Amino acid sequence: MPLDAYRINTEPYYEPQDTEIDIFTAAYSERLPVMLKGPTGCGKTRFVEHMAWRLGKPLITVAAHEDMTAADLAGRYLLEPSGTVWHDGPLTQAARHGGICYLDEIVEARQDTTVVIHPLTDARRILPLEKHNEIVPAHADFQLTISYNPGYQSAVKDLKESTKQRFIAIDFGYPPPSTESTIIARESGADSDLATLLVRIAERSRNLQGHGLDEGASTRMLIHTGRMVRAGLPLAAAVRAGIVLPITDNPDIRAALTDAIAACV
Ligand code: ADP
Repeated sequence: MPLDAYRINTEPYYEPQDTEIDIFTAAYSERLPVMLKGPTGCGKTRFVEHMAWRLGKPLITVAAHEDMTAADLAGRYLLEPSGTVWHDGPLTQAARHGGICYLDEIVEARQDTTVVIHPLTDARRILPLEKHNEIVPAHADFQLTISYNPGYQSAVKDLKESTKQRFIAIDFGYPPPSTESTIIARESGADSDLATLLVRIAERSRNLQGHGLDEGASTRMLIHTGRMVRAGLPLAAAVRAGIVLPITDNPDIRAALTDAIAACV
């Protein structure tokens, strides 16, 4: 099978936050495209991996970036010893053979690149490959999921209205404290006291959001910090290396964050 390498055979651990599993399942059953909205490191990628496993479908992930072209998604001719040979891009592979295509951080791509998904995400469900003179009808199993961080948007970097309005959206936030500490304990091996403390530290950082920080500490950061403690580092050093230093370069904000954290340790 062409997409066997993209199948997920063991269950990716995922702690639900709300009704997102039901929403995605319904959207997939109708083959509607889904937009996962939320800050970085809050579980969007893990969620789509879990859903691909649950639905038994291959998952092809593409990290969008500003130099990405439509050809990076759709495909291109490459020069080989035998001549020029067409190579399907990741979006075409998923559409042709049937799988979930996950475009991570879609707004990083230019708008002229993102429009390539339009005919795949409406009733047409086709992917025209002009350069290959072919129209690929989407496989019955094909579905498109994108992630989108509303915090990063600016006028120049946002989705076109005509792109946004094609998607079912699921909002992701930081999980409730008890769920987040369960995730941290499970993913980092931290004991429950440490996991609970890391969540309290994260809350302090999240309170500084909009007051010098663009975003508070993500679940991912807390897991990394927990792992540094597990590796033998004292808590204060792990928090500094895992949270304070990566999240901001501003010395005043670092000091404010360090003070806020010290108050809850
Ligand atoms: P995003 O795609 O939103 O940037 P990820 O899905 O990569 O974030 O999440 C970062 C890490 O946090 C994951 O690798 C996983 O360890 C953990 N994580 C976050 N949320 C959850 C969750 N609900 N269940 C299980 N793990 C989670």
